[in-house]
Amino acid sequence: MAQSAVLGFPRIGPKREVKKALEAYWGGKIAVEELLKVSKEQRLLTYETLKSQGVDVIPTGTFSLYDHVLDTSNTFNIIPSKYAKAGLNNLDTYFAMARGHQKGDVDLPATEMQKWFDSNYHFLVPEVSQSTKFALNDTKFVDDFVEAKQAGYNARPVLTGPITLLALSKIDSESKDAEFDPVTLVSKLAPVYGELLTKLAAAGADWVQIDEPILCMDRAADYADAFKSTYETLAKAAPNVKILLATYFGRLESNVDFVKDLPVAGLHIDLDRAPEQIDTVVPHFANKTTTLSLGVVSGRNIWKTDLNDALKTVQKAVKILGGDEKRVQVATSSSLLHTPITLKNENKLSAEVLDWFSFATEKANEVATLTAALRDPSSAAEILSTNEKSIKARRDFEKNSDPAVRQRLAAIKPEDLKRKSPFSVRRPLQDKHLNLPLFPTTTIGSFPQTKEIRAYRARFNKGEITQQEYEKFLEDEIKFVVEKQESLDLDVLVHGEPERNDMVQYFGELLDGFVFTQNAWVQSFGSRYVRPPVVVSDVSRPKPMTVRWSSYAQSLTKKTMKGMLTGPVTILNWSFPRADIPKEIQAKQIALALRDEVNDLEKAGIRSIQEDEPAIREGLPLRAAEHKAYLDWAVASFRLSTSGVSDETQIVSHFCYSDFANKQIMQSILDLDADMISIENSKSDAKILRVFQNFEYENDIGPGVYDIHSPRVPSAEEMFNRLKAFTAYLPVERLWCNPDCGLKTRTWDEAAAQCKNMVEAAKRARTEL
Ligand code: GLN
Ligand code: ZN
Repeated sequence: MAQSAVLGFPRIGPKREVKKALEAYWGGKIAVEELLKVSKEQRLLTYETLKSQGVDVIPTGTFSLYDHVLDTSNTFNIIPSKYAKAGLNNLDTYFAMARGHQKGDVDLPATEMQKWFDSNYHFLVPEVSQSTKFALNDTKFVDDFVEAKQAGYNARPVLTGPITLLALSKIDSESKDAEFDPVTLVSKLAPVYGELLTKLAAAGADWVQIDEPILCMDRAADYADAFKSTYETLAKAAPNVKILLATYFGRLESNVDFVKDLPVAGLHIDLDRAPEQIDTVVPHFANKTTTLSLGVVSGRNIWKTDLNDALKTVQKAVKILGGDEKRVQVATSSSLLHTPITLKNENKLSAEVLDWFSFATEKANEVATLTAALRDPSSAAEILSTNEKSIKARRDFEKNSDPAVRQRLAAIKPEDLKRKSPFSVRRPLQDKHLNLPLFPTTTIGSFPQTKEIRAYRARFNKGEITQQEYEKFLEDEIKFVVEKQESLDLDVLVHGEPERNDMVQYFGELLDGFVFTQNAWVQSFGSRYVRPPVVVSDVSRPKPMTVRWSSYAQSLTKKTMKGMLTGPVTILNWSFPRADIPKEIQAKQIALALRDEVNDLEKAGIRSIQEDEPAIREGLPLRAAEHKAYLDWAVASFRLSTSGVSDETQIVSHFCYSDFANKQIMQSILDLDADMISIENSKSDAKILRVFQNFEYENDIGPGVYDIHSPRVPSAEEMFNRLKAFTAYLPVERLWCNPDCGLKTRTWDEAAAQCKNMVEAAKRARTEL
């Protein structure tokens, strides 16, 4: 019989139990035993939940105290030397790599984080060297399996695969090894994976799921031989355990040519992101015995699955495989890690809206339902017909939500994406009224989000204070921020963003077309979770969003007050997009709404307007063939939102997580045609500015002179030296002086001391550079 399978599950717990326990443990409020107890309860609850939803294949090992990649590194003894040497116990070493460790005379920073493929989940980058001694260092994966087994679940352990693990690794900076591709180490690592498989087999595992999402990227083609030898090693090491090779987040494409011959018992493919794989991958297995796991229920979105459609796909696969239903598993497209845990805790959404969604628990139910329907279509007839109605209702709602927005979008003309004149003409016009010295000083937008601000907002949300009281409070706060900046003698001021809970949520709440959940938390990293807004229909702006605050702030000062918005691409990339129309259209709808806001700010007398786009890079598709199309619409969206203003108005943008070494991204940033951009730079070498030099970037730029994540107050001297280093690559007339990003996580003491030194550094630069 066909089976249903889930590839992984959220770790947080339905009431954020794990997040809370972790933070309490780190804060010294609970003992390690309590943390481990809560973790165990949540693992068992996950198995119980999956079983009760009818899932046949339950994953173990996907629970993590911080990150599954770190779990894997730790298991295979991939521990950079400075952590290994620190003399900490296992768990402390693990958390030291995750989040740094500062106690007694041990002072270790956290290891680097990066985004997990094209998701908003961050993993900890493993660090390897030629001398890394791969060995089993931790029993987590076996323990989790045994724990589940003892509780009565014959589960399928999940491991991050050796090639993906190494492909995501970097070279341990302390190793002094010459540059090499970490994947070349796989011949040493594979036997240790083999050992682990043997242990899992001995503990009773029949199947092990090995995740190799790297197979959905172009670069995996270079690893064809490595895949072949690695999986041969694994098959030999543990002949009794069947391997399900899991690929997700994209398509195998030509990698199927070598994947089809790997000695594995099963292959999982993502049919949500790449539905065409039913025709391009499945037929390769027609005459084999391989089990195919069909990822038809999305692990990446929050929408209810179109079960009738998914069932057809699964039936088609069975047919291609010669009618042998046993050979398929009906699965989630990827781990459900990227979805919120359950709809059950949403009690503020209307019944209509609730009916559109499916979170992790409901998705588990969907795979089980589909499997039952595959075995016996009549058994699920009623569920299928109800589902058809739900899907239709949502499609109708989406399609008809706002014809005016669609008409406006269709009427966009090429000139709507262009400023009236080129930068060389705009700059002198802007100079006249901006009237700025060399190395103008500014900040990125937010000032400290103090406890007081958050408490006030919470009271307002609970209805304990009136709108009027709240607004008065915000005005006072803005006044304080403006006065502070005047006294620090900053040149271009900001209002400080006290009214914003979050740079995306704030706008989502003011735009039509978004809905918000109460508990749809999704892991960003460690114990940090975000609650992305959901785009449910055509987006529009019912009324101005920020004009009130920006014009109030401007009224308090003669200096230029920057308007402050989040860009269309970042709003979309940090939300759950709708699934019925392309992201391009959604981004452009948001752009049109922002365009009105930008124009209104200009009308209200705001002469410099910043639109932050830190998330442009993370939306980059996995396959290079799709990069250009994505970047084209991303750039077009930004330009659409900012090109309605006159030449005299300065348009600013900001990037903190970007990859300027990537030529395509770099070109796109230039194509935004912002008059000024600020970029995160304090942790990088000034040398990366060479890229801007090579691209002959002519507009203004403010590379960050200090790291805002740290309470540390760099001296004026240190920041001056950074400015000096920048001048080796860029002309002084183009350089600004600003921090890396917003100051919302700093205290006022820190922010004020940092800004004071920053202004001093700029003043010195004006005379000396
Ligand atoms: N304007 C925002 C701030 O200062 C920018 C945040 C970001 O880029 N992540 O907080
Ligand atoms: Zn930033």
